[in-house]
Amino acid sequence: MTRVLLATRNLKKLAELQRILDGALGPHRIELVGLNDVPEYQEVPETGLTFGENALLKAREGCKWTSLPTIADDSGLAVDALSGMPGVFSARWSGRHGDDRANLELVLAQIADVPDEHRGGAFVCAVALVLPGGKEHLVEGRQSGRLLRAPRGEGGFGYDPIFLGDGQDRTNAELTPQEKDAVSHRGKALRALAKVVAKVLPVSPG
Ligand code: IMP
Repeated sequence: MTRVLLATRNLKKLAELQRILDGALGPHRIELVGLNDVPEYQEVPETGLTFGENALLKAREGCKWTSLPTIADDSGLAVDALSGMPGVFSARWSGRHGDDRANLELVLAQIADVPDEHRGGAFVCAVALVLPGGKEHLVEGRQSGRLLRAPRGEGGFGYDPIFLGDGQDRTNAELTPQEKDAVSHRGKALRALAKVVAKVLPVSPG
């Protein structure tokens, strides 16, 4: 079976991608492993200015150290009134990496005076696949919508409670995980990636 590295320690991300690949290719035709399953290497800092650059940086590094086809992702929220920021800085916008509540409060404060018609934004997810021969593939998924003025909902994570996707009357934090997968930037990018994987990797019959 083809082994593929997903350059993350997040077990939820591993399970999510394995589910999507199984759905697209037939069950278990790819063995997905995470950073906890391969010998440790020095991970690169995310120095890119775009989601795609960061995803490629991480995938190239993983492939270089493990010689496995490597998938890596980067994602975040791009707010129109903030010229696309927090963007690649989404996880550390307030200065503390991963402090979801502080990040969300800071964005709300920064756009407090922005009128409803200019509160557009999008979640963006880039996913890169780098192969040992050097070939690189990059896909992107977007969920467009607008920013509310106060958080709503308990589900999801990050900026989900202040994001209302186009055509939705519930914030991302009010959707079930399945509903969010169907419309989200990650869901779209990972489904696009599954199509690339089916084309470029040898997969055993399911
Ligand atoms: P990562 O690339 O998955 O590590 O995400 C980077 C940051 O972007 C997260 O810490 C969140 O702040 C934000 N983000 C990414 N995806 C989502 C999402 O689906 N909902 C809300 N916030 C997200």
